[in-house]
Amino acid sequence: MAFKKPVELVLGINRRGLLQGAVAVTAVATAPFTQTASAATPLARPPAVKIKAQAVNFEPVMQDNNACAAKIKAAIETAARDGVKLIVFPEMALQGFEKCQDCASRGRACDKHLATGELVDGPLMRELADVSMRNDIYAVIGFGERDPSRPFLYNAAALVGPEGLVGVNRKMGVGQGMQQVHSQSMFTSGDKITVFPTRYGPIGVGICYDIWMNGDVARLMTLQGARIIAVPTATVGTTKGGDLEKMAFARARENNVFVINANLVRGGFDGHIQGEPKFYSHSYIAGPNWPSMAQILASGDDPFAPVTGEIDLAQYERFLGRSNLLARRAIGGQDIQFTQAIASGYAALIGKQVV
Ligand SMILES: [Zn+2]
Repeated sequence: MAFKKPVELVLGINRRGLLQGAVAVTAVATAPFTQTASAATPLARPPAVKIKAQAVNFEPVMQDNNACAAKIKAAIETAARDGVKLIVFPEMALQGFEKCQDCASRGRACDKHLATGELVDGPLMRELADVSMRNDIYAVIGFGERDPSRPFLYNAAALVGPEGLVGVNRKMGVGQGMQQVHSQSMFTSGDKITVFPTRYGPIGVGICYDIWMNGDVARLMTLQGARIIAVPTATVGTTKGGDLEKMAFARARENNVFVINANLVRGGFDGHIQGEPKFYSHSYIAGPNWPSMAQILASGDDPFAPVTGEIDLAQYERFLGRSNLLARRAIGGQDIQFTQAIASGYAALIGKQVV
């Protein structure tokens, strides 16, 4: 059985960042998924360990879910044999992107593309959860998710692992601007920032634009306890030393967390750089490496080869011990004025007031 029952984590964090029994946080592993952490009660951080992580430069078999799943399973098994404990696949790795006039005119998925979506607890996703369980590895997998009860398709990423399905993130940034560039009008927006508990501690999952263009999302994940942020992406026009590398570095540097960015290869983006792999892929792993607050820890020149690197969570803890970021930004912390000013600014944007 790949899907675990909801579990109750009882945890809390005091102003010095020390764990204490306090607030019950329900980590729900059954659909519909809910956010699993809040900044007020960050998820527990298990002891810091070193793990091998991998970002896959993945080329999907266009609109062939079974063929893509077979490639994903093979990559998971190969990585696990190599000792990898966390593997990240790109945005929409299970289907690739396909432009569609019918979707565009409806402003949501047409019947054809709705049918290409997978239920997060459907047979194909269960297979991928099962292969992760059998291989004792966590995997973040970008896929088109069909809503279980409504005619919606989400640009989603599932986190599966030794426990089975851990959770799913639905991309928020699928709006008008993205429609013009990526023909993403077939997708319905998600509305949650997601951080999930794992045996290696809290892992944030956010897709492409949601992280790269929204540094505040990564910061909130960090304040919710994330030590690792997995970022499935699908973008062209990037090369080694290009934007993706700089963004992976920036998010890692400003939060002192590890960032694993896996980028799609081809996958339907046949616009301005048709079929040319050297402008795709270029996945990265970035994170703290004392005394440097962040470095690019792994990258590669082969656009089709996975990028593998070591994540030493003690590096995160070492910087957190100096910065006390979580405690500083919490109630009673030295930097509560930042939290209050930022919260007030955002509240004003949605017509509310923070007392
Ligand atoms: Zn369509």
